Amino acid sequence: MGLLSEGTPLSWEETKKYTQHVREHGITQFINIYKRLRDRQGDVLKWGDEVEYVVVKFFDDGREAKVCLRAEELLRILNEREHANPEGVKSLWRPEYGAYMIEGTPGKPYGGLLAHFNVVEANMRHRREEVSELLQPDEAVMSITSFPRLGCINFTHPPTKPTPDRGATRSLFFPDEAVFPGHPRFLTLSRNIRERRGEKVSINIPVYKDKYTEIPVDSYSNPTMPDHVYMDAMGFGMGCCCLQLTFQACNISEARTLYDQLTPLCPIMLALTAASPLHRGFITDVDCRWNIISASVDCRTEEERGLKPLKNNKFVIKKSRYDSIDCYLSPQGEKYNDIPVIYDKADYKRLVDNGIDPLLAQHIAHLFIRDSVSLFSEKIYLNDEEDTESFENIQSTNWQTMRFKPPPPHSTIGWRVEFRPCEVQITDFENAAIVCFIVLMTRVILSYQLDFLIPISKVDENMQRAQKRNAAKEEKFWFRKDITTQVSPPEANECCKTGSINCDMKNCDMFVEMTLNEIINGKEGEFPGLIPLIKSYLTGMDVDADTHCTIQQYLQFIQKRASGEILTTASWIRNFVREHPEYKFDSKVTEHINYDLLNRIRLIQTGKISCPELLGDNTKSKTKDSVPTALTNDCL
Ligand code: ADP
Ligand code: MG
Ligand code: MG
Repeated sequence: MGLLSEGTPLSWEETKKYTQHVREHGITQFINIYKRLRDRQGDVLKWGDEVEYVVVKFFDDGREAKVCLRAEELLRILNEREHANPEGVKSLWRPEYGAYMIEGTPGKPYGGLLAHFNVVEANMRHRREEVSELLQPDEAVMSITSFPRLGCINFTHPPTKPTPDRGATRSLFFPDEAVFPGHPRFLTLSRNIRERRGEKVSINIPVYKDKYTEIPVDSYSNPTMPDHVYMDAMGFGMGCCCLQLTFQACNISEARTLYDQLTPLCPIMLALTAASPLHRGFITDVDCRWNIISASVDCRTEEERGLKPLKNNKFVIKKSRYDSIDCYLSPQGEKYNDIPVIYDKADYKRLVDNGIDPLLAQHIAHLFIRDSVSLFSEKIYLNDEEDTESFENIQSTNWQTMRFKPPPPHSTIGWRVEFRPCEVQITDFENAAIVCFIVLMTRVILSYQLDFLIPISKVDENMQRAQKRNAAKEEKFWFRKDITTQVSPPEANECCKTGSINCDMKNCDMFVEMTLNEIINGKEGEFPGLIPLIKSYLTGMDVDADTHCTIQQYLQFIQKRASGEILTTASWIRNFVREHPEYKFDSKVTEHINYDLLNRIRLIQTGKISCPELLGDNTKSKTKDSVPTALTNDCL
């Protein structure tokens, strides 16, 4: 979940005294990074994925499944191995919000060879096996976006009870003991977000109305939103899992371009990877975690949410600190920043006075409208020439669809961009396919100099559409009609010219609404489609037969998900519950249904059973454990 600095956490009352201090020094630290590294050039493509997992314990006798609060214990062992052999381990493990969650990344980032696409899945499989070896036979490590009965009575093992009248979270449903105990950051954030907001977070998600659905209006519901599943803790969002990836750009300008160009793809990829229809034991009417996680860390006060006139706060702020980005960063993006971006004028001026251009200054100043909500007493007074922790404090708690990452101090790492919207899929095959698809998209964008930009307001609209039930099949999304630019090479134009795409711009709208299928697979005569663009890019590249085969399998899988030929994870899960013999058409995911669902997922993830509705004829690719010798024309 980002920065993990050690130390003694401060209460909100104490943190509050230092918010302006952190802001001032954080901005100074960014200015210093920028001055030092703005001209850094020549970094090569490197990239890596992050997969989050839930540890689940199965009780076969009673047919129940619980989240297993053993993450800390597992991480201790996994991290010991890393410390003993930092260069040699194949995977790195980090804590996440839940005491039942772990996050795994490859031991080293991948590089710019096509052949690297053929080791991603093997590495993911290795990660799963590495953890599985530490588990009991009745436990499993599972890449599921939401644990279906999170927050239901007895959802943890060992059993825990929520403490609504005390502790950090004060939830009716989510006990503090389900929060990762090994690092103070997580409970501190939960407490400080609640205290800053002035009340518990309030997450309300429409229930999926089935034939016999009744949501009782009682002390466990929100009386003002009767047809909604009510959740009141950070854990309902941050306790979900996701799939992220980070790429290194050759310089700051390429990073800014990628940040912008990938932004319109965020809602598209959210819809394509939708995997979380079940929350707190209910089938909901959404397919994704996004709005839940956004509300789960919404630390805005009533004034900031516009419910009361501003008195103690500076701004009315439209979004939670976890949401889609608010402004583009590249010169091409500027004109599409159609929603006023809020920032403190003095912060902005200081950035500009220090030689930072207005667009980047706006981005940084906007990040810094948020207060620090997790501060350690040892990390208040820092050397702004050397340290970046005050900057990272705010940067790492702006959880947005994209993240623009400056090089860390004293490292060989360059300017990077993180792609953060995707929900995590059940199998390594699916996760690897999605990751490789996005990395290929970055290469297509850069080499064909494509332009995907649409107004930020339309990206916001797409984010909401992406989460609706069955959005992948039924929704339409705003997309740019002509994605070639004046500098796009002829191949791109060829590819885009499948019909009248080069139409006279005066007579057509620049932005059109298309289905996921049309965006990914193309629309005859109107839009080339992302997969055909990737295929055209790959033509003429030379790669070993196995890698070629893997890439083709991944692309075919993405095509099928987008066309609806195979189901999204969310649709598959929804169907599983609704077709379960014990389902009463009351929107409830009972203990037994939960157990059977997770058991089925467990069999699918290990390849013990196939699942053509979800995966087509794929179970795993011809992926390899190590990269074969590169062919000459294999460079991305
Ligand atoms: P976060 O900011 O989410 O905490 P990390 O900095 O831990 O992310 O890294 C996330 C991903 O970045 C990992 O998959 C890792 O392999 C990858 N990564 C590491 N070094 C680089 C690099 N130089 N360029 C691009 N990605 C990298
Ligand atoms: Mg994470
Ligand atoms: Mg990340």
